[in-house]
Amino acid sequence: MQQINRRDWLRMLGAAGLVPILPDMAMGMSSSTYRHTDIRVAMAPDNPAIVFDESKCILCGACRRVCQRVMSITGYYDLKKTGDQPVCVHCGQCSMVCEGDALTPRPEWQAIKAAKARGDIIVVSLSPAVRVSVAECFGEPAGSYCEGEVIAALRALGADYVLDTATGADLTIVEEAYEWVQRLQKERNLLPQFTSCCPSWVKFAETFYPELLPQLSSVKSPIAIQGAVIKTFFARQMGLDASKIFNVALTPCTSKKFEIRRPEFAVSGLRGMDAVVTVRELADWIRSEELEYQTLKPSQFDSLMGNASGAGVIFGNTGGVAEAILRSAYFYLNQKDPPSDFLRFSELRGLNMFSNRSMGSPKVASVRLDATHTVTVLVVQGLANARKLFACLKDGTIKADLVEVMACEGGCIGGGGTPRAKTVPYLTRAMREARIKALYTGDTSRSIRLAHRNPLVKQLYQDVLGDFGSEAAKTLLHTSYQSRKKDLGK
Ligand code: SF4
Ligand code: SF4
Repeated sequence: MQQINRRDWLRMLGAAGLVPILPDMAMGMSSSTYRHTDIRVAMAPDNPAIVFDESKCILCGACRRVCQRVMSITGYYDLKKTGDQPVCVHCGQCSMVCEGDALTPRPEWQAIKAAKARGDIIVVSLSPAVRVSVAECFGEPAGSYCEGEVIAALRALGADYVLDTATGADLTIVEEAYEWVQRLQKERNLLPQFTSCCPSWVKFAETFYPELLPQLSSVKSPIAIQGAVIKTFFARQMGLDASKIFNVALTPCTSKKFEIRRPEFAVSGLRGMDAVVTVRELADWIRSEELEYQTLKPSQFDSLMGNASGAGVIFGNTGGVAEAILRSAYFYLNQKDPPSDFLRFSELRGLNMFSNRSMGSPKVASVRLDATHTVTVLVVQGLANARKLFACLKDGTIKADLVEVMACEGGCIGGGGTPRAKTVPYLTRAMREARIKALYTGDTSRSIRLAHRNPLVKQLYQDVLGDFGSEAAKTLLHTSYQSRKKDLGK
């Protein structure tokens, strides 16, 4: 007779809805609040990004597999050492694979309705990957470009202003490229520079690799910059009271729910962003208001902070951040814009994750920026891959000048708040590729493809910030990081 092991037995009971009454029989875990942690992730009730409903858990084990194999979080810390505190970087990938819908993004859209009801000014900013994923929730094929429909939906839901977070991305790019060029010329000890726009990667570095923090770009993420600029420059230009603005980031990313709550991102005593709504939450919100998505007439962004570059748009996928930085770094070093053949680095594009597995499957490009700077750029997806890459950088097996790190496979188009298919696998390679392709089409169809050519960027530096890398720019657009090594316990 075929033997059923303990794990299969638990799964059978889980599928029958009996998990909540099962005792935890994991060896040595009896003192923990968290049950069945040999099968599923431990999710703290106050996790700002993800909610866990035990009554829906069928013990499929998919959450633990993705958290351990792709993110290298579960299995890389010990609840007994952390004082029973789960370690989490809020990527939401567990919610993307959860077969029982027990793990879901923590919903925040009701807070927007409450803010509207008390008379706040609702400003919503769309991250790049949002415009190539919302339509999937309403039956459209993966990668359908739906920027106009999403803006229309947000206006119908009560947004007073709808802006483009690709504008914030343009500001991240101009400062980060400037910072990198300074390091290439004068501070080579801080190379390679690591990108810092992915909050899951930043928290991962703070927790597991604090020795790398000086090499992370100190520039804030696009959403953090968007929040800061809306509550200062935008409010002034539009004659609005910043304290009455309720700032919403519409994103593919659950981790942003953690990031916006970092106290260091406050501006003039106010939170930069007040709420983060993911793509799946927006779809829930649209359905709950009985809005007919298919009948929405496409609308446009508000003009101030609504006209971003193609470089800002490709931020939403793997390799896009590095490519956008290269475009502006070329400008700083040569005092002229790059030629058109510099606007497509095929080595850095796409999923392309099946070579050099022992190094973390990085994408690699060698790029001649000017007569004296030929640089090596690496792009890595998945934090388990990042671990492998760091080992190789440390022992000198591989060298780099710039490293882009994104927690999610495919970058933000594969974020934990993006749409899922109805059945397993919930997010296929083909879906990711279609979203990526749509972002690059969005880039080539823009009249402005370089972040430093965005008129808003020019106006902000001219009126407020002065030069790239100035003290004023550092105050508004940069941040600092802290070691969280103690979170791992002793
Ligand atoms: S959000 Fe990410 S890090 Fe946290 S438990 Fe889920 S997969 Fe793991
Ligand atoms: S890759 Fe993008 S979506 Fe995923 S955690 Fe990082 S910022 Fe969020």
